[in-house]
Amino acid sequence: MVREKKERKRNKTRYKKRQNRASIFFLLWASFSVMALLIVLGLSVSQGIVMKEVYEKEALKRVRTSGEEIEEHLKAPVPAPFQGNRSAYIRYLATYYDVNVFVLSKDGDLLFPQFPTETPTMDFTGATKTLIQKLAGEHNVVYKTSDACVYGAKLALYENAQMYLYVEESLALVQTASTEMAWRTVFTALFVFILSFAVASAVAGWLTRPLSEITEKAKQLARGDFNVDFHGQEYGSEMQELADTLNYARDELSKTDRMQRELIANVSHDFKTPLTAIKGYAHMLAEISGGNPEKRAKHANIIVAEADRLTALVSDVLDLSKMRAGMDEFKKATIDLSTYVQDILTRFDYLKDAQGYSFITEIEEDIFVVADEMKIGQALYNLIGNAVNYTGEDKRVYVRLKREADMVRFSVTDTGAGIKKEDIPTIWERYYRSGETHKRPVGGTGLGLSIVKTVLEKHGFLYGVESETGKGSTFYVIFPIL
Ligand code: ADP
Repeated sequence: MVREKKERKRNKTRYKKRQNRASIFFLLWASFSVMALLIVLGLSVSQGIVMKEVYEKEALKRVRTSGEEIEEHLKAPVPAPFQGNRSAYIRYLATYYDVNVFVLSKDGDLLFPQFPTETPTMDFTGATKTLIQKLAGEHNVVYKTSDACVYGAKLALYENAQMYLYVEESLALVQTASTEMAWRTVFTALFVFILSFAVASAVAGWLTRPLSEITEKAKQLARGDFNVDFHGQEYGSEMQELADTLNYARDELSKTDRMQRELIANVSHDFKTPLTAIKGYAHMLAEISGGNPEKRAKHANIIVAEADRLTALVSDVLDLSKMRAGMDEFKKATIDLSTYVQDILTRFDYLKDAQGYSFITEIEEDIFVVADEMKIGQALYNLIGNAVNYTGEDKRVYVRLKREADMVRFSVTDTGAGIKKEDIPTIWERYYRSGETHKRPVGGTGLGLSIVKTVLEKHGFLYGVESETGKGSTFYVIFPIL
C-alpha cells in the first residue's frame, strides 16, 4: 500500500515536471533559430575577415604602385602646365591616383602641398616618426595604419634636404563595407528568426500530430477500449515502432483482460459446483439420510471432499496472488528430493485402486536440492496432477528423478493427447485453460501451471515441456545438483 502510494506520488510529480517542460514546438524553434543564427554569424564573420584581408592586400599593392609612380613624377621637373607650382602638381597627382600625397620634413612639417584642398587633420609629426621607424634605413616602405595603407620613401627634391614622401590610400571603404555587412547580418538574422518560427511550427505540427493522435488512443485504451488501432507508418519509422509497440501492448492487455474474465468465470463456476453439491448433500443429510448411518456417512464424506476442493481452489488463487505480488517469502533449505517426490506420489494413491491409474517411477536415491519445500512440493504436485488429468486411456503416468551430468532432472510424462505447438507458450500463463471441457480426476483451477511457473522462476530453476500431439507430454524441471 505504502509502496503504491509512493509510486503514485512519483508518477504525479513526473507528470507535473513533464507539463513544465517546453513543448516540441518551442524546442524546435529554439534549435532552428540558434542553428540558423550560428550559420549566419559564422558566414558573416568569415566573409568579413576574408573581404578585409583581400581588400587590404590589394590596397597595399595599389599604394606601392601609385607611390612609386608619384615618386618618379616628383623627381622629374614640375611639368609645364603647372608653371613650377609643385603644390598644385602634387594635388593633381593625388586626385589622379585617388590617394593623399604629402611631402614631409624629417621633423614632421608639411612641406607640400602648401595649400591643400582640405586642411589635413592627421598628426604629421607622429606619422613621420612612424614612417622613419618603418623605413629603418631602406629607401621605401609600404605598411598599414589603423585606417590607411601607406607608401613612404625618402625624397631628395633639393640637394641635401631630407624629405619624405607620404602617400596614403584610405581604408574607409572596408570599414563602410563592414558596417554595411553588420546591418545585413542583423536583417538576415531577423529574417532567419521568422523563418525558423514558420519552419518550426510546420515541423512541430507534423511531429506532434501523430503523438497527439496516439495519446488520445492510449487514453481510450486506458479506459479499457481494446479496439483502438495505433498508426504511425506515414510519420517515419520511429512513429511506426511506437505504434507497433502500443498495438502489442494493447494485444497483451486485452489478452490479460480476457484471461482475467475467464478466470472469474472459471473460478466462480468451480466455486459453484462444490457449493451446490455441499448444499444438496447437507439437505439430504438433514431430511432423508440422517437416520441411515450408511448413507449419512457417505453423504458426509462427499460434503467433506467438496469442501476440500473449495479450500484447494481458494488457496490456489491466494497463493498465486501472494507470490505474484511478492508478498510470499521463500524459505529455502536443503531437502531430500528423492524422498519428497515419493511422499508427493502417495497423495495420488487413492487413484490407483479406485480408478485404475498406474504410476511408473524411476526415482534415484539421495538427491538433495536447495529449495522452499512447500512451494516446490506444490509445483511438482501440480505437474503430476496434470499428467493424471490429461493422460491417455491407459491411465499411465511416468515420474522420473535422475542425475544428469551436473544437474538433476525431474520429469513427469503422460500418454495423453499432448499439447499443440502453438499452445505451448500460453499454457503457462495465468488463467489459461484449454478450450475443451475435460473430465479431471484431480481438481484443476486453470492456475496449476501458472503456480508452477511462478515457483520455479522465483527459484531460478529451468523448466519446460516436450509434447507431441497424440502421444503425450513430458513436463520437466532442472535442479542444480548439490
Ligand atoms: P488446469 O489443468 O486446471 O486447466 P493448468 O494451469 O494446470 O490448469 O494447465 C493449463 C492448461 O495446460 C490445461 O488446461 C491444459 O490445456 C494444458 N495442460 C497442462 N498439463 C497438460 C498435460 N499434461 N497434457 C496436456 N495438456 C496439459
